[in-house]
Amino acid sequence: MKIFFNQPYFAGEEIQNIINGGLTGHLSGNGIFTKKCHEFFEKKYGFKKALLTTSCTDALEMAAILSDIKPGDEVIIPSFTFVSTANAFVLRGAKIVFADSSENIPNIDIEKVEDLITENTKAIVVVHYAGVACDMDKVMDLAKKHNLFVIEDSAHAIDSYYKNKPLGSIGNLGAFSFHETKNIISGEGGMLTVNDERFIERAEIIWEKGTNRAAFFRGEIKKYDWIDVGSSFLPSDIIAAILFGQISKLKDIQKKRLGVWNNYHKKLKPLEEKGLLQLPYIPSYATNNGHMFYIVTKNLTERNNLLKYLKKNNIYAVFHYLLLHSSKYYKDKHDGRELPNAEHFSDCIIRLPFYNVLKEEQIDYIVKKINKFYN
Ligand SMILES: *Cc1c(COP(=O)(O)O)cnc(C)c1O
Repeated sequence: MKIFFNQPYFAGEEIQNIINGGLTGHLSGNGIFTKKCHEFFEKKYGFKKALLTTSCTDALEMAAILSDIKPGDEVIIPSFTFVSTANAFVLRGAKIVFADSSENIPNIDIEKVEDLITENTKAIVVVHYAGVACDMDKVMDLAKKHNLFVIEDSAHAIDSYYKNKPLGSIGNLGAFSFHETKNIISGEGGMLTVNDERFIERAEIIWEKGTNRAAFFRGEIKKYDWIDVGSSFLPSDIIAAILFGQISKLKDIQKKRLGVWNNYHKKLKPLEEKGLLQLPYIPSYATNNGHMFYIVTKNLTERNNLLKYLKKNNIYAVFHYLLLHSSKYYKDKHDGRELPNAEHFSDCIIRLPFYNVLKEEQIDYIVKKINKFYN
């Protein structure tokens, strides 16, 4: 029996939604399912504006355009993240100033960010790793003090909260992912959330190739025109139809995922108590949205040995992220600071197989093998 790392989950209504969408004769972007998704997210999480995109990468690129990043501007980003978090800003010519993680959690160490701010700093991008909130009061205070934009990379963070505030609703802008490895999925897919009124109108224009076509379709203007930069950031309504099938079952999906998470946690706790490995830490201001389950080993050798051992037993666990400040593309541009906590997480994290329908017997088998490795 192979236990895969991820298994895309169909909640039930996705295919019927695609058919129903097709019957309306509208399959391109901004159709009925796109609108239904926007309404759902805006209502449930209080985003001032939600715009589906073809990926979180795209949503981040939109955020970089909206924050008006120009060559020479500096953007502070954790090194321990997915490449798109930084790439979106590099595309606008930004200089990325990479920040370290905290000691006990892979999120950005906000206490150390102020030292990185210069007169060229334009924005801070935070990543709510594993759906666990960054300390947003501190992030927002710092941003206010230095007049910076805050972008929340919320790729992991749908339906997760910071002091009762939905993630993605706190910074000026937020970016979500519906890639098949995330909580709710559409294969590829994403969403930009706009919480700063100043950006709402422009966001929709950038989304629609730099035109005011969306306003035209609503009948607000007589003809549409090219009025700004932009790209084709909006997904086909087929993607939205799949996503709507998922959000209709969001509660059920979240319940399943938290079940898997709690099961892992309960069964691996004894190993943590023996000091053999570390389990995820969730600060009291944050919620757990069951995005992923990771363990932290003592060092790189042990991590690689455990991964190999699991694979030999048909368990497909993975590591990530390769640090961005020491990547082939960026290492010569980085200012040379060491980022020891980020390095520790990059060396020692293992993400265990995680999906909605991972069975208790499978979790038991994985935990048994991890125990055996440590014996
Ligand atoms: C998955 C992910 C992304 C990119 O999402 P896509 O939808 O695949 O573009 C960005 N940032 C983080 C932290 C991610 O995990």
